[in-house]
Amino acid sequence: MAAIKGSNTKPEVRVRSILHSMGYRFRLHRKDLPGKPDIVLTKYRTVIFVHGCFWHCHDCRWGIVVPKTRAEFWADKRRGNVERDVRKTEALEALGWRVLRVWECQTRDMEALKLTLAGLIGLDTLS
Ligand SMILES: [Zn+2]
Repeated sequence: MAAIKGSNTKPEVRVRSILHSMGYRFRLHRKDLPGKPDIVLTKYRTVIFVHGCFWHCHDCRWGIVVPKTRAEFWADKRRGNVERDVRKTEALEALGWRVLRVWECQTRDMEALKLTLAGLIGLDTLS
């Protein structure tokens, strides 16, 4: 884990660092795919979205936070994100892509994140 330094604090960067250390090759934000997925594992026809828990309404303690001010404004914004996520996922799946989601709260612990990614991407791709 020596290669992963403190500057890699953003969830997406953390995911990328680990995928790289696991030997995966990927491209970022492919504009030719619906929703410009954060990470694209072309070889496995798999895309990964890294979602902020609050913004995408994760069912965790960061995702269920209700802002004290302008609650309705934020609720609308977040609902819009979730609806867009569903549409993107459907569009990608229709094109034969597998869509994986990694949540911000899953990126806090690098070792745990590695196991999560290994599980998500799956033994089927590595065998
Ligand atoms: Zn979460």
